[in-house]
Amino acid sequence: MKVFENIEPLKVYLSSLEKGTSIGFVPTMGSLHKGHLELIKKSKQTNQITVCSIFINKIQFNIEEDYIKYPRNNELDTSLLTEENCDCLFIPSPETVFPNNYVYKKYELGTIESILEGTHRPGHFQGVCNVVERLIDIINPTKLYLGLKDLQQCKVIEKMLSLNQLEDVIKIEFCETIRNQNGLALSSRNERLSEKGLVNAQALSKTLQYAKEQILMNDEPTHISLLEQKCINMITEKGFESVDYFSFVDYLFHPIEQKSNPKKPAYILTAAIIEGVRLIDNIIL
Ligand code: AMP
Repeated sequence: MKVFENIEPLKVYLSSLEKGTSIGFVPTMGSLHKGHLELIKKSKQTNQITVCSIFINKIQFNIEEDYIKYPRNNELDTSLLTEENCDCLFIPSPETVFPNNYVYKKYELGTIESILEGTHRPGHFQGVCNVVERLIDIINPTKLYLGLKDLQQCKVIEKMLSLNQLEDVIKIEFCETIRNQNGLALSSRNERLSEKGLVNAQALSKTLQYAKEQILMNDEPTHISLLEQKCINMITEKGFESVDYFSFVDYLFHPIEQKSNPKKPAYILTAAIIEGVRLIDNIIL
């Protein structure tokens, strides 16, 4: 695997590839787990070259402590990517990605930016868009691999590409959430949980599953706000300190008030804090 810390040598390598070489790109913040590696596998299946980036993007963290405590495991990550036969790793410093004179962009993302994660993490999605645009500008991928665990982020990046008229140039592949045997969505942040915390954290996916069953199995219309409150209580009873949201939205991310037998997909999304660690998860209806 070729490893680059700087932009110019990476660009030289990429431009040495035969014209038309398909490049799959997997952006990550490192501390890789099977969820990330699944994205690498998917990319390798359809592209001639797979590039992974590891960059903990400070500007998408609205709480400094969260940035400082974000796990860092560069050596192990590099060996995992090598085992996976990833072709290329880009692992730049903060100054390489955003030099002092860097002009950050402001994206008109619309309401998707101001709900759910957007409400609880102001500025987060602007930070995400800035870094993803910067990285795709350097790498020029054919395909971008994103995990549905970060469902709202998937929608935001899709929107950012369309604002840049890149939706036909870079195809996004959305990949299923990879979970442990108890249903907990794999996340680099899980590393910060104690053994007990890891067990209790299952409540998030179990409650999403419960909510889905309540919606799909009941013939009577479901009272969504009552169900949301019940689910929030279930999560806090299982040891979470707090729940930022547990929300039902339609495929356009508009809140669902009542069960409406949707023909298009709808989602339940949640974010909650356990042992000081903020976890997110979602389920499709
Ligand atoms: P991160 O390193 O958390 O920024 O994630 C990098 C990419 O991996 C994003 O597209 C995530 O959505 C994706 N990802 C993270 N966790 C999982 C998971 N459990 N299953 C599938 N994809 C994931």
